[in-house]
Amino acid sequence: MDTIFALATARGRSGVAVIRVSGPDAWAACERLCGDVPEPRHASLRVLHHPQSAKPIDESLVMVFEAGASFTGEKSVEFQTHGSIAVVDLLFEVLSRDCGLRVAEAGEFTLRAFKNGRMDLTQVDGLGDLIDAESTAQLDQAMRTMSGSLSTKVESWRTKLTRILGLLSASIDFADEEIPDGLSGQIETLIVEVIEDLESQLSGFDASQIIRDGFEVAIVGRPNVGKSTLLNYLANRDVAITSDIPGTTRDIVEARLSLDGILVTFLDTAGIRETDDVVESIGVERSLSRAGAADLRVFLTEGDTIEPEFSELHRNDDLVFQSKSDLSGRGLSGKTGEGVEDLLQKLTSNLGQKTALPSNLTHVRHKASVEKALYELRLSSSFLGSEELDAEIVYEHVQRAVGFLDTLIGRIDVEAVLGDVFSSFCIGK
Ligand code: GDP
Repeated sequence: MDTIFALATARGRSGVAVIRVSGPDAWAACERLCGDVPEPRHASLRVLHHPQSAKPIDESLVMVFEAGASFTGEKSVEFQTHGSIAVVDLLFEVLSRDCGLRVAEAGEFTLRAFKNGRMDLTQVDGLGDLIDAESTAQLDQAMRTMSGSLSTKVESWRTKLTRILGLLSASIDFADEEIPDGLSGQIETLIVEVIEDLESQLSGFDASQIIRDGFEVAIVGRPNVGKSTLLNYLANRDVAITSDIPGTTRDIVEARLSLDGILVTFLDTAGIRETDDVVESIGVERSLSRAGAADLRVFLTEGDTIEPEFSELHRNDDLVFQSKSDLSGRGLSGKTGEGVEDLLQKLTSNLGQKTALPSNLTHVRHKASVEKALYELRLSSSFLGSEELDAEIVYEHVQRAVGFLDTLIGRIDVEAVLGDVFSSFCIGK
């Protein structure tokens, strides 16, 4: 197993930079730089020296971890140096050239933590989400996943299903492939409990998805109705997170706000069209389909109803406002800000309903595994109810359901999903 290292903090000039080293030679590298291996799990101040020239590189806080007591589960060391590009470059050179270590790949520390049983795959997903979190709702949800909320659920389902398998294998061995009456009732109760739990988890998936990925709101309306003026107004409010996506003919085409902790991205659909530099008709189509794909639409109208060309786009929760209220006396105005609070309040309450009961399933991967497990359990329960009750068939379907749950937490079929799970990780994590 290689010993790996990476900068765990963002690259560039900063107050402090953290360099992590993990693997069998981590302590040896520490000794070469510090002259000793400080007491594990304590912050120790050391001057790091170049092993060849003995020249001081920087003063650093050094933290050493034993195997089994570190993030990765391996021997590891963290250097908190000054966030100077020269210091970091020099340390990288020493660690690779003098100590023979290798630069970590993206997500490799976490991969090792997973492989060493420090966390399961759903916790890895949670950690990835935590690093990506921009809003408080995202953060809360990521923290729950990372601390194992889904793992605990999966364990409880697994325990019940394994119990069923135990009961069934007893009956397959001792009774002529038939399940005794009392036993079948007991098994059915357990299966139904798990089925109901899986169903309720699936029903909250959309809510947790909105929390994780944010919510996209398209601003739709005829040219010159005031879409980009409204977008600019939103982008300049103090709840705006980013508004720096430049358009060619306009300032921005997108504004990101946090509404009650939920990340909301407003799109100026016409802005998207104009930056695309394509034939007008294709552009209009594109912008309409983008608006249709958004989670919600805000229609800005010239009169008091939606214009006919947009009526097909309109769906249940969509909001309609007459624009330029400073002139028309109704609706909202991106110029004066009048009515914008009303818009945001309506959106916030809509989002509140949509995210009221989030599930522990936060990734499409989680949902897919649970759906497959549910399918198997429904099958097995349908066999349980039938006349020709075959213990072996029920056993097989329950066992498959367990398999899908095991894939979900990464107990089996790991290689197949690793790429998917780790593709979004950064170097140093
Ligand atoms: P878009 O094509 O829908 O993005 O429309 P714009 O935001 O570019 O606005 C078109 C014109 O209407 C510009 O001259 C704006 O200054 C003006 N405008 C936009 N919103 C308002 C508003 O609320 N009140 C008034 N009086 N003018 C507005």
